[in-house]
Amino acid sequence: MHVISVSFLFMVYILGGMTAILGLWLYYDRRDRILCDRQRFRHVYRCIKCGRLYERRGQREVAPCPDCDYANDRLRF
Ligand SMILES: [Zn+2]
Repeated sequence: MHVISVSFLFMVYILGGMTAILGLWLYYDRRDRILCDRQRFRHVYRCIKCGRLYERRGQREVAPCPDCDYANDRLRF
């Protein structure tokens, strides 16, 4: 017959709590990074049809001009 000591149960309890905290930390860190990246990236576009300079958020390579609706590539520096 196995006898489980109190210290072993306490260690399992502590490790379970630490695992739960680590899992929540990784989940919220990943979620916040994804949400922040969507708002952080801003790209500048220049319309080759009407000459307007405008910006859009996100990681798009092509964005339509707000004036003439022509799809332009983002400027690269
Ligand atoms: Zn335009």
